[in-house]
Amino acid sequence: MQVPAQFEYEKAASVEHALSLLAKYGPESRIVAGGHSLIPMMKLRLAQPLALIDINDVAELARISVEEGMLCIGAMARHADLLASAVVGEHFPLFHDAERMIADPIVRNRGTVGGSLCQADPSEDLSGSFAAVRAEAVVQGRQGQRVVPIREFFTGPYQTAVADDEMLIMVRVPIRSSASAYEKVERRAGDWAVGAAAAVLRLEGDTVAEAGIGLTALGARNFYAPEAEEFLAGGPATDERFERAGDIAAEHCAPIADQRGPVDYKRHLAATLTVRALQRARTRWHGRRNGGN
Ligand SMILES: Cc1cc2nc3c(=O)[nH]c(=O)nc-3n(C[C@H](O)[C@H](O)[C@H](O)COP(=O)(O)OP(=O)(O)OC[C@H]3O[C@@H](n4cnc5c(N)ncnc54)[C@H](O)[C@@H]3O)c2cc1C
Repeated sequence: MQVPAQFEYEKAASVEHALSLLAKYGPESRIVAGGHSLIPMMKLRLAQPLALIDINDVAELARISVEEGMLCIGAMARHADLLASAVVGEHFPLFHDAERMIADPIVRNRGTVGGSLCQADPSEDLSGSFAAVRAEAVVQGRQGQRVVPIREFFTGPYQTAVADDEMLIMVRVPIRSSASAYEKVERRAGDWAVGAAAAVLRLEGDTVAEAGIGLTALGARNFYAPEAEEFLAGGPATDERFERAGDIAAEHCAPIADQRGPVDYKRHLAATLTVRALQRARTRWHGRRNGGN
């Protein structure tokens, strides 16, 4: 039986309380949200925090709302909340696509948006999704809040811009006219991605006015594909252009060979899934304009 090393446990009643507990226990303390990544790591002794600060009772962090033209998703919103949210599906359906394929209902009922992003696992589906929509992370310390573009939030595998004495409060996405989609290949239902791609499109006529491409589990720096986005912007939204964008995304990512597949297969997925996500986003764009979603 795997058992974590001994640790202190405190339940925070508010954000301020959580931050004061982080200060009290110092850099060896950890926030625990859903616990679906942290607790297994503690059982394997890959993480040995001296104290866990539990933020599950901080209700203000669980809200999903629209404020000042932004979709605001609290760090403690569960995967299941994101999946159930009509306002999320209305503005950014790629999150519903992704959430339908993240793990299983048990994990989705417990795992959180903040935990997913702060874990910064290279295979985390929400990281590629939030990168594609150009979200921003709201990070709070005892001195106040700061806003970090999600594309600068990930500083390496399992590393983020959140300092030891700070916590992620919320992720915000500017609401604009767009269509989006997420495509994932997994070995079996509920598994982590072999590879996945997110696409966001805004068209003016048949021309791409905005393109966002996120990549998950494919070794893309900061989970997105800037070269492919630049290629698409200003050009026609045709299959031919999407295929070239997929090839560009595949050329510039750096997947690693592992038990889920070799590098050439993953590059193939980067290209193919980018095209599929772009095509689905384009279909949704035209559907929205005809009154659908
Ligand atoms: C069996 C299984 C299958 C899974 N499959 C998938 C999958 O297919 N796709 C996928 O994307 N994910 C998958 N996951 C991951 C899961 O969905 C959760 O997203 C993940 O476990 C992290 O969320 P959590 O709330 O459990 O975080 P926790 O485990 O509580 O925390 C993770 C890390 O984030 C830190 N943290 C948490 N919240 C904050 C905060 N607000 N501020 C600062 N730091 C914070 C913690 O200190 C810790 O370091 C899977 C997990 C399991 C157990």
